[in-house]
Amino acid sequence: MKRVAFIGLGNMGLPMAVNLLKNGFDVRGFDKGATAASAALAAGVAMERSAIAAVTDADVVVTMLPNGAILRQVYGEIVPAAKAGALVIDCSTVDVESARAAHDMARNAGLKSVDAPVSGGVGGAAAGTLTFMSGADVEAFEAARPILSAMGKNLVHCGEAGAGQAAKICNNMVLGISMIAVCEAFALADKLGLSRQAMFDVVSTSSGQCWSINTYCPAPGVGPKSPADNEYKPGFAAPLMLKDLGLSQQAAASVGVETPLGQHAAEIYARFVAQGGTDKDFSGILPWLAARANE
Ligand code: NAD
Repeated sequence: MKRVAFIGLGNMGLPMAVNLLKNGFDVRGFDKGATAASAALAAGVAMERSAIAAVTDADVVVTMLPNGAILRQVYGEIVPAAKAGALVIDCSTVDVESARAAHDMARNAGLKSVDAPVSGGVGGAAAGTLTFMSGADVEAFEAARPILSAMGKNLVHCGEAGAGQAAKICNNMVLGISMIAVCEAFALADKLGLSRQAMFDVVSTSSGQCWSINTYCPAPGVGPKSPADNEYKPGFAAPLMLKDLGLSQQAAASVGVETPLGQHAAEIYARFVAQGGTDKDFSGILPWLAARANE
């Protein structure tokens, strides 16, 4: 049985690790947060006391961490401790530079390396239907395939090191913009006297349909179950969306591309996070906007 070390068992990492267990992998976990670590233990993941202990003897190491700085720090610990020839897969969303730095560290130590950020949210993580967008050489991507297939449905090999993160940053710029658009439309519809159910029934089957309304509707009690039905508890936390929009703007500036809506979405999420959105799901833009409409 393949032994997999899983580092970072938060909202996404835990259900992903559980799917590896269900598919017969021997999973050893580490999370530095006490709450996440005990939730993982309760879900059946064998938890270790350090990242180094988790990766020792692992054939594969999966990381699902908040940002590039933490990723670099964790790779600094685990790469020297990993088994010779092991495969490391980073599924976090990070800047392209950090992804490439992580690849370099791993490859210089003789490890196979893949950046494989995901799309599909906590629902997709639990259902094992995530999309993985991967940057790697063909050999490493093929080595990662059985692991990624246990956690996801669509595996896209986007190109060489860092290409997965480039795809992810572009996707999430679309997502941030579309979530704001859907929330603005609900806030406007409220004021125009339209019921939220009617608004959902029309837009989700018309030309305005998109993932932000059809799958992850920001209005509670309407559409499929989403964080809106759980008082906007994340889900996908607003600060993480702000991080991703920042990454898209950083990337756009580095290659001289104008992304005016992406820039505006980043500004809106910065305001939302500063005005109480820190612990909210990114779809919490709806009650925030609706409250402003009533001011
Ligand atoms: P999260 O904050 O719930 O989980 C991150 C986990 O990493 C936490 O449990 C934290 O304790 C742990 N951690 C932090 N530093 C650590 C360290 N040094 N060693 C070990 N563990 C450490 O975040 P999440 O929502 O699970 O997101 C994880 C990544 O996935 C992020 O990069 C995010 O942008 C990306 N992502 C999230 C979603 C989503 O819907 N939540 C969707 C796609 C991608």
